[in-house]
Amino acid sequence: MQYETVIGLEVHTELSTKSKIFCACSTRFGQTPNTQVCPVCSGMPGALPVLNRAVVEYAIRTGLAVNCNITRNNQFDRKNYFYPDLPKAYQISQLYFPICTDGTLAITSEDGGTKEVRIREIHMEEDAGKLIHDDWEDASFTDFNRCGVPLLEIVSQPDLRGVAETLDFLEKLKGILQFCGVSDCKMQEGSFRCDVNLSVRPMGSETYGTRTELKNMNSTRAIARMIEAETARQIALLEEGGHVTQETRRWDDDAGESYPMRGKEDAQDYKYFPEPDLPPLVISQEQIDAIQANMPELPEAKKLRYTRELGLPAYDTGIITSSVYLVRLFETTVEICGDAKESANWIMGEVLSRLKSTQTLPENMPFAPESLGKIIVMAQKNIINRGTAKKVFAQVFAEDTDPEAYVKQNNLAMLTDANAVREALIGVVEANQKSVNEFKNGKTQAFQFLVGQGMKSLRGQASAQEVTRVLRELLGSD
Ligand code: ADP
Ligand code: MG
Ligand code: ZN
Repeated sequence: MQYETVIGLEVHTELSTKSKIFCACSTRFGQTPNTQVCPVCSGMPGALPVLNRAVVEYAIRTGLAVNCNITRNNQFDRKNYFYPDLPKAYQISQLYFPICTDGTLAITSEDGGTKEVRIREIHMEEDAGKLIHDDWEDASFTDFNRCGVPLLEIVSQPDLRGVAETLDFLEKLKGILQFCGVSDCKMQEGSFRCDVNLSVRPMGSETYGTRTELKNMNSTRAIARMIEAETARQIALLEEGGHVTQETRRWDDDAGESYPMRGKEDAQDYKYFPEPDLPPLVISQEQIDAIQANMPELPEAKKLRYTRELGLPAYDTGIITSSVYLVRLFETTVEICGDAKESANWIMGEVLSRLKSTQTLPENMPFAPESLGKIIVMAQKNIINRGTAKKVFAQVFAEDTDPEAYVKQNNLAMLTDANAVREALIGVVEANQKSVNEFKNGKTQAFQFLVGQGMKSLRGQASAQEVTRVLRELLGSD
């Protein structure tokens, strides 16, 4: 029998606010354990939470970007559970009145068309801390720095149908969150992670099968492998005449398989109730309008504008708008050099190939964004030739060197003095009499060799056209 995979996602993204959701502690990643904690986020009795206004703003901005309704009368709810990395023994979340509901996100469907995936809701909540298991010391440690870091949980309807759609949904969502400036979505730092709910059903069936939930997936490769494996596991169960148990499972990426973690919990299990330490949150229409009026330009709109205003081909706009970090580099570069196509070419060529060969993500772009524009300007003004420009860029990429200073210090500028070029090439002719004779006897390859020697002796300080022209003159070939 043919089966269809049905997937719904619960994505957790850490917001890039400076401080935590209910206290003033810093949210900065990677600091010494337990240095960013206070009585509120470490769950001391009597400490009271105060809602961070920026979290609400970020949530509304995200909701508007994915066409959600914004809930005017919000409330927070207490989700009770004990876990060693959550000292309060409850998480403040939103169950009954999530801040955003009923949105849509357009993705590319399996058949190559466009598909609107429904967003069921987006709600605000706080993150828990981290447990660090140390085999060497045979002990587990707790780091509470992450306690109280603001999260948005974005819940889709079960509208996704396989690996490609799921990865595209995550990619599009990540783009929106990054372009909205609400999250940096660094999967490897855990600031963007998702629970994948998956069921299978006979192709053509209208009802959903029983689903499992795979928790805390934080790499696209693992998600892809997991979806294939879980689909196969569920189909095998059904084919044997068995049934899928609704449960939460954990994916072991090294083993390439998942194992049950716990039975599926219900809202009742958490004994949710309205959070008594926070007043209801009322959002005015004016507040929503003000955020709407200041929405940043999203990838789709940018794509259209780049084509309309800058005349860029669709291929180029697609690549550049695939990452907010490429967009930032592109826009800065165009601002400096004024040539959109040349900027796009450099980014799609040198920049992407170096990112790839050094396995660097665009978000970790290792050089000042102005540097690329400066290099292009030097090339436009014929201060350096193309080959030198690439070399300068390699240096900029490797060590974040200032390109103008580098060209000066290393004498890479082209010779503006025609005599200097001529003199250098006279030297080349004298030193390579054998090739000169071959050339005079009709061997055209010998001329290419002389051009190469000329370029070398000028160390890229003259253009190939200039070297060719002067050499022809010296050898009297035209
Ligand atoms: P809970 O609140 O218990 O986690 P929900 O019904 O709210 O369950 O759904 C959670 C997630 O599971 C949503 O992303 C939803 O799209 C997805 N989901 C629900 N039913 C199915 C199903 N049969 N197959 C796959 N995903 C599902
Ligand atoms: Mg859930
Ligand atoms: Zn705190």
